[in-house]
Amino acid sequence: MSCSGEEFNDILQIKPRIMMQLKKAKYGVYNHSTVELCHWSKKSFLNEGECYKSKFYGIDTHRCMEFSPMGMVCENRCVYCWRPMEFYDFLNINEKSVDEPKTIYDNLVDERKRLISGYFGNDKADKKKVHEALLPTHYAISLSGEPTLYPKLPELIRYLKSLKDTRSIFLVTNGQEPEMLYKLQEEDALPTQLYLSTNAPNKDLFMMINKPLYKDAWERWNKSLEFLRVAKTRTVIRITLIKGYNDALELIKDYASLLMKGEPHFVEVKSYMHVGKSRMRLDEDDMLSMEEIKRFAKELATYLDFDIMDESIESRIVVLQNKKRYVNRMIS
Ligand code: SF4
Repeated sequence: MSCSGEEFNDILQIKPRIMMQLKKAKYGVYNHSTVELCHWSKKSFLNEGECYKSKFYGIDTHRCMEFSPMGMVCENRCVYCWRPMEFYDFLNINEKSVDEPKTIYDNLVDERKRLISGYFGNDKADKKKVHEALLPTHYAISLSGEPTLYPKLPELIRYLKSLKDTRSIFLVTNGQEPEMLYKLQEEDALPTQLYLSTNAPNKDLFMMINKPLYKDAWERWNKSLEFLRVAKTRTVIRITLIKGYNDALELIKDYASLLMKGEPHFVEVKSYMHVGKSRMRLDEDDMLSMEEIKRFAKELATYLDFDIMDESIESRIVVLQNKKRYVNRMIS
């Protein structure tokens, strides 16, 4: 168990042993929430490049706050997860056992300032950028665990939207809590861009790659897929490909029929990346080359009314854009 306190309605907390390991890995932690300075934000401070979401959609990489209100709780055990998922818990979380959105925000912002502070003493760092970074304009609600398990997610997203400097909010979900997605829409709390993690065109591969704890995980994921079609916000299906697992060209037709159910605005075709804790489960050879990613994306586009929109070689990703459900790629 990496968290405690749930059964007594105390506030859920990541256990000290796990918290220490996370802090050693340069995470900021507050009770059940986590924050981190993304690898790309650090590169941006040093003017060594921006992340692909900046290139594709115009977000501010150096002013991105990457965090999760459910840092160590998830319903899946995806084989390619770079996070320390071996520590993950799977708990039934109730409203009484979690922090209020503002409490999470204030404490994680302080943790993040602590993580940024070292860059003021770094000669190579762009001090103007480091200073701006203290006030986030972009929120990436992903990092670790499954954010849609946080029962107060609608309030949290509305709170972030209420902050004057907020430009964009991205939410990444594994699709295991479709009800929460409908709740976000009903309560006018949708993110700027909603990502549905995708890594299998059929149930067998889904169960093999995601190792879900819910028996009806595939059905839950499909309900979340259907939500994308009616979602009143920008939607992205990100397909993570692992060589020899889910990248066979014969599978592309099945991926395409799934994608048509969700009609997302964008499809990101991305290689698994041999980083973090995933190195204990997969090999470097399980990554696809950029050429293989481009070939898969090109083939996929022939089944869809989508254009190849852009690519990032460093992140081994190609993005397709929906011609029928067109939105300006750049977030204003
Ligand atoms: S948007 Fe994602 S990749 Fe870009 S800086 Fe934020 S967490 Fe990193």
